[in-house]
Amino acid sequence: MPDRPTLRPETVAVSAGRPPRIPDAPMNEPVTFASAFVAGGPTEYARYGNPSWTALEDALGALEGGTCSTFASGMAAVSAVLSLVPHGGTVVVPRHAYQGTLALLDTEAGTGRFDVRRVDIADADAVEAALPGAAMVWLESPTNPALEIADIPRLAATARAAGVLSAVDSTFASPLLQRPLELGADIVVHSATKLIAGHSDVVLGAVVTGEDELTDRIRSHRSLHGAIPGPMEAFLALRGLRTLSVRLERAEANARELARRLTDAPGVLEVRDPGFGTVLGMVLADAAAGDRVMDRVRLWIPATSLGGVESTLERRRRWATEAPSIPEGLIRLSVGIEHVEDLADDLLAALG
Ligand SMILES: *Cc1c(COP(=O)(O)O)cnc(C)c1O
Repeated sequence: MPDRPTLRPETVAVSAGRPPRIPDAPMNEPVTFASAFVAGGPTEYARYGNPSWTALEDALGALEGGTCSTFASGMAAVSAVLSLVPHGGTVVVPRHAYQGTLALLDTEAGTGRFDVRRVDIADADAVEAALPGAAMVWLESPTNPALEIADIPRLAATARAAGVLSAVDSTFASPLLQRPLELGADIVVHSATKLIAGHSDVVLGAVVTGEDELTDRIRSHRSLHGAIPGPMEAFLALRGLRTLSVRLERAEANARELARRLTDAPGVLEVRDPGFGTVLGMVLADAAAGDRVMDRVRLWIPATSLGGVESTLERRRRWATEAPSIPEGLIRLSVGIEHVEDLADDLLAALG
């Protein structure tokens, strides 16, 4: 179906990336298991392309308003974007962000590959002050797990004026709640493992850019590093995307209601709610209080990762690699699509 510019994002998520309308053609792009294609076409070898990726890329690209390239994981996508930073260049990065991204940045900085300037991305003045001379500003919004919000339109505009590439990890928002290219950013990154695939059964990443030159470099990195998604994973991620809007509708409503009820729940010192999306934070007194809740829940699943239909929770500082400025008692809640009363009963019982 031709994607009319007037279609709303919820509709694009359902309609984009389908095979041509030919009688008896499948309605959904099938999974293509292939390592090589018959010679003479544009693809030839499956490290350069696969129709199962293309369908997902068409859909995500249509949603974000750019060209999408899918990857083996969110981290493979992050890594491809960081490859755009020239040797010895400077990257401005959030002090709180996905720990894998921060670890990769630190590792690369340790080898002299580039320099890292850490900032509080909620403090736009501080981010702007760090931009001069940088090659890239890396924004994550909301941040994992602190749930800070960056002023993307302002920072993207300042970065552009300063000749600094801006990249936004938009995983926590999904393409239905935030479209960074429309807000002026150069590059969007997703861990499609989370909300896009949505069922905790796929690892996959995506990069979307608005410029062919950037897309060419991103795809060349993918081919040369072999960071390609499996066709089955691409199929599952696209299947997940089809229901993203209804999953979000329920999970966001659940999240807002839980945030309200947690505010005066026993032992909860602070509730962090960015006001949109499906992830909340609650701060308890200390690690022991946090671990006790993780032990006592019966419906909520103690697990890392987020964005699935099932509600999960995790005390983030159980990871030695989590930033020390994240409170020991912070529990990240990934709110799913169960009935909110069951989620509230289980959580409040575990807290009580
Ligand atoms: C999970 C996550 C990643 C990494 O994605 P993987 O698919 O696990 O490789 C990157 N950024 C954010 C914000 C994430 O939550």
